[in-house]
Amino acid sequence: MNSLTQIINGTIAALEDMKRSGVTHVDVSRETLEGLSKAPVVVGAPTLSPGRLEGSAPAEPSSQGKASPDLAPIEARAKVCVKCRELSRCRHNVVFGVGDPHTELMFIGEAPGRDEDLEGEPFVGRAGALLTKIIQAMGFKRHEVYIANVLKCRPPENRTPLPDEVANCLPYLLTQIELIKPKVIVVLGATAMKALLDVQLGITKMRGNWYNFRDTPIMPTFHPAYLLRNPAAKKEVWQDMQTVLAKLGREVPKR
Ligand code: URA
Repeated sequence: MNSLTQIINGTIAALEDMKRSGVTHVDVSRETLEGLSKAPVVVGAPTLSPGRLEGSAPAEPSSQGKASPDLAPIEARAKVCVKCRELSRCRHNVVFGVGDPHTELMFIGEAPGRDEDLEGEPFVGRAGALLTKIIQAMGFKRHEVYIANVLKCRPPENRTPLPDEVANCLPYLLTQIELIKPKVIVVLGATAMKALLDVQLGITKMRGNWYNFRDTPIMPTFHPAYLLRNPAAKKEVWQDMQTVLAKLGREVPKR
C-alpha cells in the first residue's frame, strides 16, 4: 500500500469513527473545500477491512513463514486522528511509535513531550536519552525494541493525559501490542501502567512485580522523567530491568 492510499484509508477510518461516535458535523474551511473539489479522484483505492480497529491488518506470514506485523495502516489512521479536538489542533506530529515490530520487548510511556512532538518520535528528549541508556544497559540497541506511548499527541504544557484522551487513544496502542506481540511489556510510570492494568495502587507499590495483560507479562517501573528528578531510584529500575532480562532468558550484561 503506498503512503497516499494509507493516508486516504486513515482519513476514511477516522471519519467513520467520528460518525459511529455520533458526530454529525465537521468544520471545514472554505479553502479546504475548494482544494478538495479540485483534488484528483483516486480510482480503486483499497477499502478498509472490517474487524479489530478497522484498517489494521493481522500479521501476515512472510516469505520465511514468520509473521510480519504490518503497522502501517494503523499508523496512517493515527496520523489523521482528530478524536481529541484540543490535542489534534496543537500537535506538530502524531508520535506513533518506533522500533522493531518483531521485537520481544516493548516499552510504553505516557505521551509525547515537546521534543517528541517536534520530531515525531517517542522518547527523544532528556528522558528519552535516559531510556536509551537503560535499553543499552540491558544489552539491546534502541532500534531492537519497540517504544510507544499511551497518547500519540502531546498534551499542552505536558499536562497529564485526561481520561477521555486515554480512552480515545488506547485503541491505537492496543492494536500495536496485538500486532507486535511482544514477550514482555515494560510500562514506564503510572499513566502507562493504569492505561493497561486495572489497578488502584501507585507505581511505587506496583513496580518490580509481574502483572498480566491479555497473556503478556507486564513489568511496571519508574518513568525516566522521574529518574531525572530522583536519580537514586535508578537502582530500583535496574533491578526491574534485570527481572525483565531473566524473563526473556537473557544474560544481564556486565556493567
Ligand atoms: N515522556 C513520555 O512518556 N513519552 C515520551 O515520548 C517522552 C517523554
